[in-house]
Amino acid sequence: MQKRYLLAPGPTTIPPEVLLKMAEPIIHHRNPLFEEVLEEVRQNLKYLFGTKNEVLIFASSGTGAMEGAVTNMLSPGDKAICIRSGKFGERWANICKAYGVESINIDLPWGDDLDPGLVERTLKENPGIKAVYMQATETSTGVRFPVKEVAAIVKNYPDTILVVDGITGVGVFELPMDEWGIDVLVGGSQKALMLPPGLAFAGVSDKAWEFNKTSKIPKFYFNWQKELSNLQKNQTNFTPAISLIVGLRESLRMIKAEGLENIYRKFDILANATREAAKALGLKIFAKTPSPAVTAIVAPDGIDGQAIYKTMWKKYGVTGAGGQDQLKGKIFRIATLGYADKYDVITAIAALEFTLRDLGYKFEMGKGVAKAVDCLKDL
Ligand SMILES: *Cc1c(COP(=O)(O)O)cnc(C)c1O
Repeated sequence: MQKRYLLAPGPTTIPPEVLLKMAEPIIHHRNPLFEEVLEEVRQNLKYLFGTKNEVLIFASSGTGAMEGAVTNMLSPGDKAICIRSGKFGERWANICKAYGVESINIDLPWGDDLDPGLVERTLKENPGIKAVYMQATETSTGVRFPVKEVAAIVKNYPDTILVVDGITGVGVFELPMDEWGIDVLVGGSQKALMLPPGLAFAGVSDKAWEFNKTSKIPKFYFNWQKELSNLQKNQTNFTPAISLIVGLRESLRMIKAEGLENIYRKFDILANATREAAKALGLKIFAKTPSPAVTAIVAPDGIDGQAIYKTMWKKYGVTGAGGQDQLKGKIFRIATLGYADKYDVITAIAALEFTLRDLGYKFEMGKGVAKAVDCLKDL
């Protein structure tokens, strides 16, 4: 028997309160009981996304809402900027390509931060850009991008919208849509929302709804305009993921009860403790501007990052994540979002120490855990 800890950047651990709600007998979605659920969920999603507008809900993984944020906003032949600095930035460019949108890519070395001035220059040099696509956290590298600063730039371009993949941002750190001027903010259920995979979300600004009116890319399942008019009547276009939405009502209640301010502070402290503990073990942090959602740690010289990640889960029951593509073997990742708390960080660092010892790394046992405990003492 081995107790397991899920500390990956999605899927994440689901609280027992949410699991129990999802185990309840299914209700019919064209029934006042479900309408009541949707009514509450709509209000709390607005709170979470920081918007007065509706937040659309889809039965898909997060990528479904990413795809919809291209197909519902643009037309074939349109130009868009994609910030590419990891797996998920590449996904934006790939979606654009699939629908005949010309993507002008801002390619950054993986792990680097984004100079918002570069977005401004690219907008100036390429007149007619309809949209800027970026991540709040590039989960593959652990970098947090300066959404607020980019939003302040894009705001001045009436014919350009800012679309943010906030799948590892929403519910982890501040991303107030209306206040900052984010036009489309995408979320997913299996990260900070403490649910299984299967729901995607999109907050949509008034400016973005104007773009929707002229968008000519064909759409059917992800037709945002139809979804909006149904949602306003507590209905959905198609059969919704009923049990997941019932679970969502519970997880949103938990988030609201804790309060976003407290949640943001908690994840800041958890991620800081993870980074400081890794440094105390002589390890380096990969991201130049690290996200509170996930910490990417550089594997020490001569030790394979995949071996670290695999030993942690196989032998010690702690599931983090390895590196992807060009980072495979070079980094491993530990997430601090969703239901994660301070004991998860301490557990992860302890498992990391056991693992590093097994792999022959030279360090003083206990130094990482001691550092983590010290960083967490006021949480
Ligand atoms: C997890 C993740 C996604 C979503 O991927 P799905 O597998 O489609 O849910 C997209 N963007 C980021 C930044 C992510 O972390």
